[in-house]
Amino acid sequence: MLPTLSYAAASAKAPLAPYRFERRDPRDLDVVIDILYCGVCHSDLHTVRDEWGKGEYPIVPGHEIIGRVTAVGKGVTKFKVGDMAGVGCLVDSCRECASCKEDLEQFCENGFTLTYAGKDRHDGRVTQGGYSSQIVVDEAFTLRISDKLDPAAAAPLLCAGITTYSPLKHWKVGKGSKVGVVGLGGLGHMALKLAHAFGAKVVQFTTSESKREDALRLGADEVVLSNNPEQMKAHAGTFDFILDTVSAKHDLDVYLQMLKRGGTMTLVGVPDKPAELGAGALIFGRRSLAGSLIGGIAETQEMLDFCAEHGIASDIEKINIQDINEAYERMLKSDVKYRFVIDMASLKKEGAAA
Ligand code: NAP
Ligand code: ZN
Ligand code: ZN
Repeated sequence: MLPTLSYAAASAKAPLAPYRFERRDPRDLDVVIDILYCGVCHSDLHTVRDEWGKGEYPIVPGHEIIGRVTAVGKGVTKFKVGDMAGVGCLVDSCRECASCKEDLEQFCENGFTLTYAGKDRHDGRVTQGGYSSQIVVDEAFTLRISDKLDPAAAAPLLCAGITTYSPLKHWKVGKGSKVGVVGLGGLGHMALKLAHAFGAKVVQFTTSESKREDALRLGADEVVLSNNPEQMKAHAGTFDFILDTVSAKHDLDVYLQMLKRGGTMTLVGVPDKPAELGAGALIFGRRSLAGSLIGGIAETQEMLDFCAEHGIASDIEKINIQDINEAYERMLKSDVKYRFVIDMASLKKEGAAA
């Protein structure tokens, strides 16, 4: 077994604190990754605080993982020791169902295995995530990271990047589309960059006036303060597609009314409380409300390669792992520009001192 340092939540009310556990020895198709950086996703916070109601503690969160391969199982062909590698939200799936066969492992009909708070299909142990010194993952669920990408700024692509890339592709956002992005956080700023790179006209909706200049710099053609009815009204009925990344309960009707006839609004944010919805905004205009979940492994690789090719990565604020609880509080105040990324050297230093 591989002794591993981490930060974990012992309960929904406990702050994250140092925790030691053992990773499995690599199986034939596993790679062992020494973690250099891990992004901080709002899903980490929802999960450790049990807002989605499925926590089994202790939980080591983290599913935006980048690091160097330090060992490989004897059947591994995709990676060798020293390679840069990434791990996102999934570490396994059944690989046999219709969804898996179509490279849509995130919709595995027999249940995919989450990177943390999941259950390993072979040994039944609870999976633990990337706020840790190392991780052991099947090569089929490990991503190649181009050396054109800065590893710290690329970490958030593993969740925030793919979660926004996949719906933009699925709903065919490109030249000629008018797209709205709701919420300028980790997911929102990636949606903005990607929709802009795909050639769409992008309007950023935000509740934070202080983010206006950044939104324009990140690729928005226009920025709308969502609590300003005048600014909102000017765009009514004009969008082909809206991607909603908001992490807390909010009014969906106002955004549905922004869609053109036949337009689609897709939710990727997962607030802890259900939304209220009037049928009117959908019926008048034959509009659609949809959802989207991360992306499959092949599409995640496609997104990483696209980002490397186009010089796209996350705007990050590097933090030490000792500051993670404060970072969560700032995330709740929408005070992130635009993704916290943990520099795992801070964890290893702490481990060496202990
Ligand atoms: P984040 O960085 O905290 O960003 C969320 C943004 O939403 C905030 O920056 C803020 O933007 C806006 N917001 C927050 N509270 C709001 C409120 N009460 N009313 C209106 N706007 C509000 O979070 P994230 O990491 O991007 O994650 C966003 C959501 O997506 C989370 O629920 C997360 O769990 C979920 N998620 C889903 C998937 C998936 O596969 N579907 C994958 C990853 C994450 P402004 O300051 O611009 O208003
Ligand atoms: Zn995430
Ligand atoms: Zn499957």
